[in-house]
Amino acid sequence: MADGNRPAVNVSLGPDLLGLLRVAAGHNQGGDERDGGKGSLAESDRQLLLRTAISEGADYVDIEEDIAASIPRFGKTKRIISLHNFRQTPADLEAIHARMAALDADIVKIATMANQPSDNLRMLRLVRESDVPTVGICMGDLGMPTRILAGKFGMPFTFATFHHERALAPGQLSFAQMTETYHYDQITAATKVFGVIADPVGHSLSPLVHNAAFAHAGIDAVYVPFRVPKEHLDDFLASADEWDLHGLSVTIPHKEAVLDKLTERDEWVAGIGAANTIVFEGAARRGYNTDCAAAMESLELALAADGAATTLAGKTALVLGAGGAAKAIAFGLRQRGADVAIASRTLDRAKQLADRLDCRVVDWKLRHGVGAQVLVNCTPVGMHPNVDESPFDKHHLKPSMIVFDTVYNPESTLLVKYAREQSCRVVTGIEMFVRQAALQFKLFTGKEAPMEVMAETLRRGMGPVRY
Ligand code: NAP
Repeated sequence: MADGNRPAVNVSLGPDLLGLLRVAAGHNQGGDERDGGKGSLAESDRQLLLRTAISEGADYVDIEEDIAASIPRFGKTKRIISLHNFRQTPADLEAIHARMAALDADIVKIATMANQPSDNLRMLRLVRESDVPTVGICMGDLGMPTRILAGKFGMPFTFATFHHERALAPGQLSFAQMTETYHYDQITAATKVFGVIADPVGHSLSPLVHNAAFAHAGIDAVYVPFRVPKEHLDDFLASADEWDLHGLSVTIPHKEAVLDKLTERDEWVAGIGAANTIVFEGAARRGYNTDCAAAMESLELALAADGAATTLAGKTALVLGAGGAAKAIAFGLRQRGADVAIASRTLDRAKQLADRLDCRVVDWKLRHGVGAQVLVNCTPVGMHPNVDESPFDKHHLKPSMIVFDTVYNPESTLLVKYAREQSCRVVTGIEMFVRQAALQFKLFTGKEAPMEVMAETLRRGMGPVRY
């Protein structure tokens, strides 16, 4: 990948152009900031470099639109005519494209900043409908889907960096992410699209886990991170058909806002008032809450582990926290007939949740005195980087207890370590995360999920080595 003054080599990735090609990238060599260039060559030297590359027989030259007319075609070298706009995706994309195509282009390449999710579809429509092969990329994290779905919309190639810390354009993914996570080179027009909607979305581990599951199961599908700001949720969901969306994971801040967009809801969604999954089928939009179902399954399996009764009915459960996770899990526990106490740092929030679900409220300072048989941590206490914190004191844990920590990064939180030291039965956040993703996979595909593969991928993805 060209950077600054280094040789004119770029990485272009695509079904037709996989791997390293000899591409002279004019915009990266010049000093013209309008093109996003990082080089310091004088304009005359930049043009000389491109002409030299052509005469030396480069496979492609990447020429900015403004100088394309003064760099003539020669020999076998193909011409990528480029435009970069780091501020916006202009309204007149079609006119710009027509102007560029007329500059003796073998390929038109347009990279613009996405300022809203709908910019992506305007760009992808242009790519799909163009007669000249076109690479249309939206930059920024809002634009990431255009990079991943290049093959679906008919781009001849897409772009990636050698390393995620050396991105040359905002939102660029590394070659390893594009190949190992997204299998971008296997994406075609027939590939079904799934994804997660969130804001922010960059931290989500769901793409890692779901794409690994699709690949393992041999399913022609890709799972894409869609950053959808709150105010664009309606627009985005209205465009589901054009994206060829078959299913979505839904997370912060959309879990409640999606409710009135659903045509059907499962029992958990209706009771909790939040959905974390949407399945699209024709006009139907079915909402599910796999967080709650996964948490209950995990707890019941832990109960069954030592041959004890598998029912939560009548058990005293203490839920720490009163946010989204607490709401889903407390609802599930009440449904199962448990006696639920809620303790949260902010008493009013705990009271509101307890009133709604008919639970008891316990002052945060008095949480150790509840005599809980089931303890569920739904606070972020113990989460990376605060790994030396626990929301519950070790000496109040008893071997008869089930301790469920929803925090999954790290898997072995201080609370989990305390619980193991006290011989409690333990449910980890990884178990819940994988189980909720596995339930989504079943809803998305109708098939049983490869849970081991998903868990292994998640653990590796959270490890110290990140690409
Ligand atoms: P949330 O809606 O923001 O709620 C967080 C709750 O934790 C609030 O009640 C908050 O109290 C409390 N809290 C925050 N910091 C605290 C502290 N230092 N001491 C005591 N209480 C504190 O978050 P959420 O979506 O429910 O997520 C909570 C946790 O669940 C996260 O760690 C998340 O990773 C985990 N989770 C795991 C899974 C999974 O699949 N494993 C799924 C969902 C969530 P205030 O009201 O006082 O702020």
